[in-house]
This record gives sequence, C-alpha cells and structure tokens, in this order.
Amino acid sequence: MKSTLYLKFLAGYVIFGILGFLIVTTYTSQQTYQYTEESAADDLYREANTIATSYAQSYYKNELTLADIQEHLAAIDAYLNASIWIVDPQGELLINSRAQTSDNPPVRIDDFSITSFGTRYYQIGTFYGTLSQESLTVYSPIIIDYKVHGYVLIHKPMSQITRYSNGFINISYTSLALIFLCSLVVLGVFTFVIYLPIRRITRSAKAYSAGNYDNKIKVHSNDELGYMAASLNYMASELHSLEDDQRKFIANVSHDFRSPLTSIKGYIEAIMDGTIPHEIQDKYLNIILMETERLNKLTQSMLELNKYGAHGAMLDVSPFDINNTIKMTVQTFEGTCTQKKISFELILTGETLFVNADMSKIQQVLYNLIDNAIKFSHADSTITIETTERNDKVFISVKDTGIGIPKDSLKKIWERFYKTDASRGKDKRGTGLGLAIVKEIIQAHNENINVISTEGVGTEFIFTLPLGEQ
Ligand code: ATP
Ligand code: MG
Repeated sequence: MKSTLYLKFLAGYVIFGILGFLIVTTYTSQQTYQYTEESAADDLYREANTIATSYAQSYYKNELTLADIQEHLAAIDAYLNASIWIVDPQGELLINSRAQTSDNPPVRIDDFSITSFGTRYYQIGTFYGTLSQESLTVYSPIIIDYKVHGYVLIHKPMSQITRYSNGFINISYTSLALIFLCSLVVLGVFTFVIYLPIRRITRSAKAYSAGNYDNKIKVHSNDELGYMAASLNYMASELHSLEDDQRKFIANVSHDFRSPLTSIKGYIEAIMDGTIPHEIQDKYLNIILMETERLNKLTQSMLELNKYGAHGAMLDVSPFDINNTIKMTVQTFEGTCTQKKISFELILTGETLFVNADMSKIQQVLYNLIDNAIKFSHADSTITIETTERNDKVFISVKDTGIGIPKDSLKKIWERFYKTDASRGKDKRGTGLGLAIVKEIIQAHNENINVISTEGVGTEFIFTLPLGEQ
C-alpha cells in the first residue's frame, strides 16, 4: 500500500522507456533501412540510366572502343564504389568495370532473365550466385532503335548501405536516451511539486485520524494542494478545539454531578449510622431534597441544551403577544420577590406587541434572565423589563441593579457551566447552564442577545425578536 502513487509513476516511466526502445528497434530501424535502400537504389538507377543512354549506346554504335568504355566505367565505379556490368539480353557479361575483358573471357550468367526483377528496377541478393556478398543490383536496358541490345547492371554491396542506416539508427538511440534523461527532470518535478506534498498531507491526515492534531501540514504552494493542506489544517484545529470543548464539558458535568451526589451519600450514611440524631434529621433531609432538585435541574438543562445541535432546534414559530408573556412570566416569581422585597417595573410598548417566535422557548429565555436578575439583586431593589419596537424588531431588556458581572467574566457567561466567583457563594444551586440555553434559543431564532454590566452597579440583558403580525 505504501507509496503506490510514486511506484505507479516510476512504472509509467519505465514502460515509457521500454516502449521508446521497442519503437526505435522495430519501427524506426525498419523504416530507416527501407528508406536508405530505396534512396540508394534510386541513385544507382539514375546512374545506370545515364550509362545506358550514353557510354553503352556509343559502345554499341562502335563510337567508343572497349578500352575507352572500360576506362569510363572504372571511373564511375570508383566514384560510386559499386561494380558496373554490361550484359547482353542472354546474360553474357560483356563488360565488367572491375576486370579487363581481355583477361577474363566473357562469363555467362546462368539462368539470367530480366523478368526476375519483376516490376521493380532493383533486387537484393548475390545475383544468380555471381557475387561474393549480398548486394543491391539495379538495371537499366540499353535501347537502340526501339530494340533492347543489353543491360547496364550496377551492384553495390549491402554492407555499405546498412552501414549508412546503422549510423542513422545509432543517432535515434542516442536521441531516445537523451529524451529519457530529460523525462527524469519531469519525474523530479513531479516528486517535488506533487508527490512529496501529497505524502506530507496523507501523513498528517493519518496523524489527525489518530487524534494527534499538533502535526500541522507544511504545504504552502499556491495551488489545489496548498488549498487542500490549508483546509485540512483548519479542520484539524476545529477538531482540536471541539475535542477540548468536549473534554471540558465532560469534566464540568462530572464535577457538577459528583458534588451533590457526594453530599447526598454522606448525609444518608450519617442518618443511617446514627451520627445525625433523629431530632435534627429533617434539616439534612431537606438538604438532600435540595441536592436532588439540583441534580434534576442539571439533567433537565443538559437535555435542553442537547436539543440545540449544529442545525439548531426545531422551532414552533407563531405570532404571540410578548407583553402578555412577560406579565405571565413575572407572575411566577411573585413568591420569591415578596420574600426578597424585589419589585418589577414593566415599561411595555403598546397594549399588545406581537413577535414572531417560539413562545415556550422565549418564555424560557425570560424565565432564565429574570431568575438571574433576582438571584444577583440585593433585597429592596427593582427589576425593570422593557419592550421597544424599532425597524421591524422588538427589543426586550431585563435590567437589574444587582452585583453586576466582572469585566473579564462578561465574555464567558455564555459558556456552559460558567459561573462567576461571586455567584458560587451566592447561588450554590446554579448550574451555569441557564445563559448557555438562552443564547442557543436566541441564536436558533437568528436573533441577537447582548449584555451590559458594571460590577456593583447592575446588569442589563437585551435581546431582539422579529416583529409579528397581529
Ligand atoms: P442556572 O441558570 O442554571 O441557575 P446560573 O444562573 O449560575 O445557573 P447562568 O444563568 O448561565 O447560570 O449564568 C452564568 C453566570 O453569569 C452566573 O453564575 C452569574 O455569575 C452571571 N450572571 C448571570 N446573570 C447575572 C446578573 N443578572 N447579574 C450578575 N451576574 C449574572
Ligand atoms: Mg441562571
């Protein structure tokens, strides 16, 4: 499985080389041989023609002596490096450029027949066994008065012709080797531009899948690979923070569950083994009840938060009167408020003010905000709830004159389980989930919530809702 991409490319490179070599050994060689053979035959044929129409005719017409023509042919032979013969139609060798006719009486070529050339003007072989080596033979008829009197034959050894084409083929091999070397450069570029970055990316992706997010991919090229690396780096950092959040969340949950459970267990054990006498058991049973309520609330809040995932919660949006909802919610706090001597001031716009939202969820938002306002207010104070309408939006504000939120805590109050130090002493039952739920609900409505607070002076939460039709 390892480095298959590179192996594939290497295999492709080798196949390319082998194919190139095969092409040169077969196609190029064959074509070169054929081409040199044909062009040599062409050249010789032209010479044979010239001889047949000039010297040979003069010789037949007795304008040239045997010695003269012999001399001419010997000169041409030396120039072409090919032997020249003149034969009569029956195959009697009359003149040979390489032998004095007087020394060698005319030789008869056995079975000589010009038809053996077929339709071509040349043939390859030892010419009826008369030549010592394989040669290319061309012929041209000597025609006088429309009658064939004989033939001019020129023989050139094949070894001379193949030497020429071998030279050509060697050049082809050298070119092929050079092309092969040049494509090594392509292989190198591929390695640096594509293969190594991909290897770096896959290595990091493997590390990410194993949960190791520190391994940042170092690919900064301005192309698709660079873009992919950047996306993966971003994904890794997101996963990293997600994992961190999850760990924090679980730590918080376990902590918040453990402390009430420990105290419940401790009190029950103390009651059972008699450490807590019967007379004062009620007090501790009440504490146990309080702790179970807290656990109940915690579970409920977590279930609530769980509903708001990445896609938000399903909202049941319909127009309703926010003024009325505020009044109803405030009423549920009457008991606590008379106890703490806290009063409400409602500054509501209009008799009715309709908004388009999920009523039960908004009720929950109001409940959490008012609950906080009461919890963190001093006795004998006023909580102001105000609605205003502006640009098709309704602004709802819940304002108290309580302990306020320290500046460095302002951003964190929306986090799950976050409680300021002051609230830990003041409200032991608080889970720190209330505002996280509020934020999720408002965001699910695509609206905003903000907080303005000064420590020791008071806090104001303002959120918006879309104006609804009556
Ligand atoms: P729960 O809502 O579950 O009872 P909680 O009220 O502590 O717990 P949140 O409602 O999420 O949790 O509030 C988070 C923290 O923000 C509070 O613990 C408190 O420190 C701070 N806070 C919220 N509202 C106010 C306020 N009106 N005045 C001062 N501090 C506040
Ligand atoms: Mg709260």
